[in-house]
Amino acid sequence: MESKGSDRLMFNLSADGKFSVKKAYKHLNESWRYVTGNQPSVWKKIWKFGSIQPRLRLFMWKLVNGALPLAKTIFYRTGYGVPSCALCSQDDEDAIHMGFKCPFARACWLASDIPLRTEQLPNTVREVLTQVLQWMSEEQWSMFASIIWAIWRCRNAKAYQGQQQSISLFFKYVSLINRETMLVNSCTGTVPGGVTMVGEATKRWVCFTDASWVNSWDTGTGFFLQEGEQLLAYGIQYTSSSCPLQAEAKALATAMAFVQQRGLHDCTFCTDNLVLAKEVSKIQPPIIVDWRAAKEFFLIWEFLQKNRGWNCIYISRSHNEMADRLAGLGRREKMDLVGFTYPIINGIC
Ligand SMILES: [Zn+2]
Repeated sequence: MESKGSDRLMFNLSADGKFSVKKAYKHLNESWRYVTGNQPSVWKKIWKFGSIQPRLRLFMWKLVNGALPLAKTIFYRTGYGVPSCALCSQDDEDAIHMGFKCPFARACWLASDIPLRTEQLPNTVREVLTQVLQWMSEEQWSMFASIIWAIWRCRNAKAYQGQQQSISLFFKYVSLINRETMLVNSCTGTVPGGVTMVGEATKRWVCFTDASWVNSWDTGTGFFLQEGEQLLAYGIQYTSSSCPLQAEAKALATAMAFVQQRGLHDCTFCTDNLVLAKEVSKIQPPIIVDWRAAKEFFLIWEFLQKNRGWNCIYISRSHNEMADRLAGLGRREKMDLVGFTYPIINGIC
């Protein structure tokens, strides 16, 4: 077995069993040092590329260390299934096959922004990385990781959902991860001081929400969830609503449902709708400002009653740009998606 670490490493990083970005991040950093100990020059370079987003870094770490649940790995460790590739069945599915040598992976690489001739590459992922890192810039390295990640997602869509792999699906995943990388890099959603807000100081987790509505039923909602300045997850939804207030309330309710599912008990929700923030924060059930939004208002109020560690505050629109952008995407492109920068909130992979 080529694996030194295992999935186990990523869990139970803290004594209380609670997920902490700080601890996960620290751990990841340490893991990288460990992995990179043997071949200093190249591996140090990987290490230096610290700005590559955490999800991709974790993914690459798993890839190099044989910690991805690939068919061959699973077969030899558990006897379960078959070792052959889920996409082509031509060869055993190990990391090098999945990421580079599989006919589907080759097609993806050729179509990508880094048109590698993968048949000329060496036969282990470590050797491949040693080779390519000699000439790659940080930006290319990030793109390189994105491409393998997108191939991996296509492979999973086929293996777990029976979805046919295709280059268009590959590009969909590439643009998804690129968008996420952009978000992670541009994320400055911390509540700034001096903002007019309703409610107390912010909690450990902060969730920004917004809606995009034009004079029709078309609605996009968006949220993104942070711990400190670290983006953890984001969601975009395409839905319908009969007025802007209902749209805003839907955005907030959607975000709350998401945060509740993840079991995060200490969260501040931000909305740029003052009426909404005020009404749902009252001890008494909310006053019906607009009957069209009544259902959502009650839902949110109930959420806040049940989750005593939560609060909802008002922030100005200029402080809510990122959620606004996500909501706009949802409405214009009719998008529905949830993304994580860490794949490990409550065991979600
Ligand atoms: Zn294959």
